[in-house]
Amino acid sequence: MNNIYDIVIIGGGPGGIGVSVEAKILGVEKILLIEKSDNHSGTIRKFYKDQKRVDKDWQGQKVELEGNIEFFDGTKETTIDYFENLLDNHQIEAKFNCEVEKVVKNDEIFIINTSCGTFEAKNVIIAVGRMGKPNKPSYDIPVSVRGLTNYNLDKCSNGEDIMVVGGGDSAVEYACELSNSNGVTLNYRGDKLTRPNPTNIAMFENFLNENKIAAKLGINIESLENEKGKIKVNFDDGSSQIFDRIIYAIGGTTPVDFLKKCSVELDVSGEPIFDKNYETKTKGMFIAGDIAFRSGGSIAIALNHGYRIVNYINK
Ligand SMILES: Cc1cc2nc3c(=O)[nH]c(=O)nc-3n(C[C@H](O)[C@H](O)[C@H](O)COP(=O)(O)OP(=O)(O)OC[C@H]3O[C@@H](n4cnc5c(N)ncnc54)[C@H](O)[C@@H]3O)c2cc1C
Repeated sequence: MNNIYDIVIIGGGPGGIGVSVEAKILGVEKILLIEKSDNHSGTIRKFYKDQKRVDKDWQGQKVELEGNIEFFDGTKETTIDYFENLLDNHQIEAKFNCEVEKVVKNDEIFIINTSCGTFEAKNVIIAVGRMGKPNKPSYDIPVSVRGLTNYNLDKCSNGEDIMVVGGGDSAVEYACELSNSNGVTLNYRGDKLTRPNPTNIAMFENFLNENKIAAKLGINIESLENEKGKIKVNFDDGSSQIFDRIIYAIGGTTPVDFLKKCSVELDVSGEPIFDKNYETKTKGMFIAGDIAFRSGGSIAIALNHGYRIVNYINK
């Protein structure tokens, strides 16, 4: 029994960090945090632009923190540092560069198969987020322009003419940031942006009024074509426009295959089934963070999941 963890947490983002730190604070000793990328907070590192403002009330969702972890508005860098200190100060055992492949329950114990070995635990928390597979548009992206379409800012260069697609906070933040060194158009199918928080709406309106960005709202994209090495975008109002690059900021998908490999029961729409304590149909296996929502979620919400789950396990 010595080698059996009380809790193994899959995913080192805010949900996983929340569970592991709350568990330590609430007296659970044997816990292990497993993260597939080379450090904690893989999504924040990959999808947030440098110096990004991190809002506690993301997408306008007001959240009261319930647990022992405080969380404030900050930047990408202060948020990562803060999580780093939490993991260090609470001496959380963590394995990075370690991808969980499968979880099976054998009698009362979970067997967790990973790229860095097999672990055993009494409880498993799945906090893998949704950004492992960002959402893609329903129309086809021709192979010849696929290299010019992205889901974060990694490949953008200064001076490109870029279209950002999406109507949430991340789309607005990407568009405003890029406009400092690029021509930027924001495209959203709705007539009006309603999802971003008030700060981002105000920023978007300022940038529009100052002609720093252009907007194509209430217009859908019908198809993309390769036009002499650039992307020709055909809109459903009959217009078309040429861009060097398109950034899709339209959220992430449920990792259905991974959940199936963990024997998590899914509903008809492929979402994990769990109860008010975030426990799946398999006793001792829980869901935390973004994966508990079809869309939405936030750092503060993920931290609250951690607190609630550990309290429930402790009972
Ligand atoms: C561009 C952008 C900007 C955002 N800005 C804000 C903001 O300002 N404020 C805010 O509150 N929220 C913001 N969010 C939302 C916030 O990032 C998420 O709600 C939060 O990260 C969810 O935490 P999570 O732990 O559920 O998932 P994630 O943060 O996605 O973490 C999941 C972790 O699991 C790891 N993982 C995945 N699969 C495996 C596996 N098989 N084995 C091991 N590890 C695995 C991943 O590498 C990742 O590190 C933003 C999101 C985006 C995309």
